[in-house]
Parts: sequence; structure tokens; C-alpha cells
Amino acid sequence: MLEALLLLCHNSRSDVFVGEIAEVANAIFEGRGDNIKLSARAGGDILREQFGLVGRRRTYGFQLALDLETQRHVHRLGIAYHVLEPVDECQHCRAAQTDG
Ligand SMILES: [Zn+2]
Repeated sequence: MLEALLLLCHNSRSDVFVGEIAEVANAIFEGRGDNIKLSARAGGDILREQFGLVGRRRTYGFQLALDLETQRHVHRLGIAYHVLEPVDECQHCRAAQTDG
């Protein structure tokens, strides 16, 4: 889930549905040969319980705002879990590297 979130941050998304994050995460799992399929609900539980990220209820599901503070938070988590693959154009990646 975290790698999916980082990927979406790097795609310059300002908000994203939890279901989309779960889909991206599933694609990452599949690419690795992991037999894991997350539902939007399971993805939302992981976001909330593991990463402290809570989406806003919308007509078509929960939407997570990828604002600056959230992006920073996601990057810090990515570093903590060793899943951040730094992108040159990303200000948060650059900040993380100079901090490190
Ligand atoms: Zn980044």
C-alpha cells in the first residue's frame, strides 16, 4: 500500500480514491508474483491502522487528499519502511535525501 501511495504522490495526484490505491497496490503485488488482492475496504483499513491516513467519504468511496503534509508523511513512512525509491523531480524525495 505504501509503495502504491508513493507512486501516486510521484504522479502529482492531489487526491486519490482508496480503491485506486488498492488497485495500484494489487498491480505491484502481482508484478512481484505475490498472491495478494486487497479490496478498497481492506486497503482503507491498512491506511488507517498502519499509516494513520483517513480518507473522506465520497459517493464512490473514500478519497484521500494527497496534500503537502500527507505527501511528506507518506515519504517519511516510505523511508521508515525502506520502500522509497527517490525521484529527482520530487521535492519530498530531495528533502528526504538531504536530511538523510
Ligand atoms: Zn518523492
